[in-house]
Amino acid sequence: MISVSEALSNLFALTPTLNSELVPLSEANGRVLASPVSARRDQPPFSASAMDGYGVTAEGVAPGAQYEVIGEAAAGHAFDGKVSAGEAVRIFTGAPVPEGVTRVIIQEDVTRDGDTITLSENLDKGFHIRPLGGDFKVGQTIDAPRVLRPSDIALMASMNIASVPVTRRPKVAILSTGDELVMPGETPGPDQIIASNSFGLQAMLRDAGAEARLLPIARDTEASLKAAFALVDDADLLITIGGASVGDHDLVGKVAQDLGMERSFYKIAMRPGKPLMAGTMANGAMMIGLPGNPVSAMVCGHVFVLPVIRAMLGLGQAPSPHQTTTLAAPAPANGPREHYMRAHVSPRGLVTFDNQDSSLLSILSDANALLICQPNSPELPAGTEVSYLPL
Ligand code: AMP
Ligand code: MG
Repeated sequence: MISVSEALSNLFALTPTLNSELVPLSEANGRVLASPVSARRDQPPFSASAMDGYGVTAEGVAPGAQYEVIGEAAAGHAFDGKVSAGEAVRIFTGAPVPEGVTRVIIQEDVTRDGDTITLSENLDKGFHIRPLGGDFKVGQTIDAPRVLRPSDIALMASMNIASVPVTRRPKVAILSTGDELVMPGETPGPDQIIASNSFGLQAMLRDAGAEARLLPIARDTEASLKAAFALVDDADLLITIGGASVGDHDLVGKVAQDLGMERSFYKIAMRPGKPLMAGTMANGAMMIGLPGNPVSAMVCGHVFVLPVIRAMLGLGQAPSPHQTTTLAAPAPANGPREHYMRAHVSPRGLVTFDNQDSSLLSILSDANALLICQPNSPELPAGTEVSYLPL
């Protein structure tokens, strides 16, 4: 058995980094920027009014000063002339500042009578002019790699970047195995259950930016497993679920190896999730064999599969990010395997659930954290600082 961190290093050694593709800006949110992009223009492209008011020459501005209004500048409608001392231009937010204007008097500070304006007694101090290029200058870059968020999309739009280089989505095929499994919505026989963790993993992988599809459930026969493996097509990663332990019906490892899978490792010192397997298939796709127990599969998804997906996307080879908090109640002593305990974190600290059976999805759903317990750690009293994976 190898440790969790050795298993992760071995997985990273098998992980390809994917190439990039151009997508329209409107489809780039949540994708990973693959190479830096740079502004194609200055923003604002002219010095612009920040308020609705009157543009004047800054010298001479004082309570009671009067100006003659000689024209108007609105957003999208520049005023072409020059503004001299004693003159003002009616101006609106976003309008180009006319030549000669160095200050915008907000309209609240002005009384207007025909084409004459008079400044009020308590003048606002601001100049209310946004300088040319004040947001960004042409050539300014957004660095890669990074996961694009809505604010990045707005910035790229403003930079006039209409198509965006992003890492292509990892293609993942998910294969559930077991004679007892049927799909949600089907009518199970008396000795059957519904395939669940395949759907949980698909959701998790899609959230992480992968294209994840479910293969038909394979039965516990070599023929059925071989038929399912043949459907992997061009996937970058095959995830199998179940059939990876030492029972008579656990055939995934054997069939994969018969089909030419080169095994990197099998079994890790972890709870839940000991029978984890990984390797490279004959067609070059990476394979991760997850244990079947629903919580084990989901926990291994967080601990191993998500970091692999992030590495494929070019986001670096690192474990899922940990956070720290303090225990609000004691945590039990641990055995020889690293234990990922379902827990709940609140502002008061972290509390583990009493029942950690790896078949209990209801407790996983109630949990918002996995407490990471080091091998052989003693019972930890309330108040101890601990690391956890947020869920
Ligand atoms: P196995 O690793 O195939 O021995 O499966 C261990 C346990 O997980 C058994 O109780 C299986 O019924 C269950 N199991 C395996 N695959 C799934 C799945 N896709 N969804 C829900 N439970 C599963
Ligand atoms: Mg099974």
